[in-house]
Amino acid sequence: MTVPASLAGAWLTVDLDAIAENWRQLGERAPGAICAAVVKADGYGTGAAEVAKRLYREGCRSFFVAHPSEGLAIRPLLPEATVYILNGLVPGAAGDYAAAGVTPVLNTGAQALEWAEWCAAGDAVPAALHVDTGMTRLGLAPAEASTLAEETEALRAIPDLLVMSHFACAEDPDHPLNRQQVEAFEHVRRAWPGRPASMANSSGIFLGPDAHHDLLRPGVALYGANPQPGRKNPMRPAVRLTARILQLQTLQERRTVGYGATATAPPGTKLATIAAGYADGLWRALSSRGTFHIGGHRVPIIGRVSMDLISVDVTAVPDGLLTPDAEVVLLDDSFTVDDLAAQADTIGYEVLTALGRRYHRTYLGSDAA
Ligand SMILES: *Cc1c(COP(=O)(O)O)cnc(C)c1O
Repeated sequence: MTVPASLAGAWLTVDLDAIAENWRQLGERAPGAICAAVVKADGYGTGAAEVAKRLYREGCRSFFVAHPSEGLAIRPLLPEATVYILNGLVPGAAGDYAAAGVTPVLNTGAQALEWAEWCAAGDAVPAALHVDTGMTRLGLAPAEASTLAEETEALRAIPDLLVMSHFACAEDPDHPLNRQQVEAFEHVRRAWPGRPASMANSSGIFLGPDAHHDLLRPGVALYGANPQPGRKNPMRPAVRLTARILQLQTLQERRTVGYGATATAPPGTKLATIAAGYADGLWRALSSRGTFHIGGHRVPIIGRVSMDLISVDVTAVPDGLLTPDAEVVLLDDSFTVDDLAAQADTIGYEVLTALGRRYHRTYLGSDAA
C-alpha cells in the first residue's frame, strides 16, 4: 500500500537526474574505461531498483551489489547487464548463480575452482576474480592469484574473467598504499594477460589514469557524496530530506528538554518537535550537536535524539516561516550528507545507507515520473 505524501512525517527526494549526471561525469574522467555502478545496500539507501533502472537507461551495463539477494532483486530489471556479487560465491551455489544470471566475484581459491569446474562442465559463464592488493578484507593473495593462473588449466574455462582489486585509502591521494596497491595489481595482472581489469572506486577515479584500468566501480559519488574529502565536491547532491513539525512551543520558564534532561533551555526559547529520529538513521550521536535549517536559518538539535522525534531550537527563525505546514530541512544542496556526517563523526556513506525506511520517497527523473 502506498501511503500518501500528505500523511508522512518526513519526505525524502532522490534526484535520479543528479545520479545519472554523476555517473556520466565519473565516466568522462576515464575516457578509456567503462563506468559501472555500485548499487549495494539498496543503492546506498536511495533505492537500488530505481537507481539501477535509471542508470541502465543511461547506458550503464555493469552493476555491483554485495549480497546474492540484492543481485536477484535487480537482475530482472536489467536485461542485458552484468550483475556482480561482491561478497562472492556461496559454497555449493554455482548452479544457483548461473541459473539466476548473476556473476560472482570470486574471492578465494576455493570459489575460483568451484566456478571453473562449473564452467568446464559445460555452462561457461563469466565471473570476476578479486585480488587483495592491500585492503586485507576479501580477495586472493596476489601470489595465490598468480599461481592459480599459471597452474590451473580449469580457470581458463571461465569466459570474460574480470580481474579486480579494491583500494583501501583512495580518498587520501597522498597515501603511499595507493601506489603500492596499483603496483601489486599490475604485477598480478601479468599472470592474467588479456583479461579486463578493475580497481577504482569513487575516490580511486580521482587518483588518475594509473588507477582507471578497464572498468570503474563508483558507488558513493554517484549519490552525491564527496569522493575527495577536504576539497570542493565535484558531484551533484542527489538527496533532499525534510521533516514535518509536529508541535511548536515557546517556553514560559526554564525547562530541560528530552530524555535524560541533558539540555536546558531558558524562557522564551522556541522549540519545534519534528517527526524523525534515530530509527530513521538520525543517530543519537547528533544529540545537542546536529543542526538542520528552516529557510536557511539554522535550527540546532536540542537534547537527545529519540527514536521517532527530535527537538530543534527554532528561536532564531522568523515567525513568518513557522507556519503550521512548515518543514525542517535535514539534507539539501546546501547541507549535504557529508555535512551531516561530520556532525555525527562519521562518513557520508553511513548517512546515506541509514536513510530511513519510513520516509515518504519521491524519485525525480524516474521512468514513472
Ligand atoms: C563498495 C565498493 C565499491 C564502491 O566504493 P565507493 O567508495 O562507494 O565508490 C567498489 N568496489 C568494491 C569492492 C566495494 O566493496
